[in-house]
Amino acid sequence: MLSAFEAIAGLCILALPASGVASMPASGPAGPATAAVSSKGLEAPAALLDLSDDELMARIAADPTSLGSLSIGTPGRAALFNSVALPANPHWQVAPNSDSYATSETIAFLQAAIDTVYDLFPETPPIVIGDISAAAGGHLKRHQSHQGGRDVDVGFYYKSGTSQWFLPASPANYDLARNWALVRSLVTRTDVEMILLDSRVQRMLYKYALGLGEDKDFLDHVFACGRGLRDAIVQHVVGHRTHYHVRFYNAVAQELGRRAHPLLVQMNLMKPAVYTVSCVARKGQTLGQMAARYHTSVRAIQQANGLRTTALTAGHAYQIPMRGSAPPMTQPLVVPHRTLPSSTPATLSAVEWPTVETLYGTSGQQQDHQ
Ligand SMILES: [Zn+2]
Repeated sequence: MLSAFEAIAGLCILALPASGVASMPASGPAGPATAAVSSKGLEAPAALLDLSDDELMARIAADPTSLGSLSIGTPGRAALFNSVALPANPHWQVAPNSDSYATSETIAFLQAAIDTVYDLFPETPPIVIGDISAAAGGHLKRHQSHQGGRDVDVGFYYKSGTSQWFLPASPANYDLARNWALVRSLVTRTDVEMILLDSRVQRMLYKYALGLGEDKDFLDHVFACGRGLRDAIVQHVVGHRTHYHVRFYNAVAQELGRRAHPLLVQMNLMKPAVYTVSCVARKGQTLGQMAARYHTSVRAIQQANGLRTTALTAGHAYQIPMRGSAPPMTQPLVVPHRTLPSSTPATLSAVEWPTVETLYGTSGQQQDHQ
């Protein structure tokens, strides 16, 4: 699935083999480390999952950027380390005022999914990509998630044949063929964790895909609108009739991030989950003003300093408890096996699709998406 555009855009940070993302580790630390080489000739971060904590520490001390991009925390409270700006690409446009920093894995997944649409439909207008994350992750305007470089707002393909952003999908404007190619590709060609999409749009896609000859059981595991499975990949959330909200698992960026986080904190390269700063009270300053300045509460400062009243003593140093950007993650990441169809409709067979065999080997047992 390597296209000429990848080489042109210099996007090949994780060098993908011809079979797309199939050889990326499907699970956390136990997954096979790929010996891919990045565009800079650096060792690919996947190999770093094999290092001991001491070796990882030495690596961070020598060159923290050699870890590649890390996604640390949860989608609603995360930090991004060594983030990558979404590069320019003829297959996509960035929506105005978007924050589009991601992990290299997220960008490689987006590219793999979108390139498949072009392989099937060479005449396709660029899709519009909205917010991903801020450069260092953390809270992003208007969003509850989008904190760790794994959540991407992706626009729709429209029948008009032009790039549009935030236009509500309707039977009159929604390009079923290209949108189904994109969703099928996200599901089978990437480690997608979930897609949020209005159920009205889901039903259009479901009906279209069934009409193409797609396996009904596969569609019922893809779309919540089918049998209403709570573990379906595509779920309805209000506000998603204008775009897909796609969340990817990052087998390397998340697991390496989980392991590197305490080391990065120890080496002062990242804030701990909770820390304190010292603040000397000025004359006339109130506890409420101090709390507001540090975005914390009066009560939190009282507790941290054993204060029973709200009185401050000018010139005295108070400890202010602060919340860091990411909580420590204790459990290793296990990326579930992908949801794969048992067959491919003839109209989509112009491209090679991942199968259980190509992804997980002949002994690979497919498990349901979790
Ligand atoms: Zn979103």
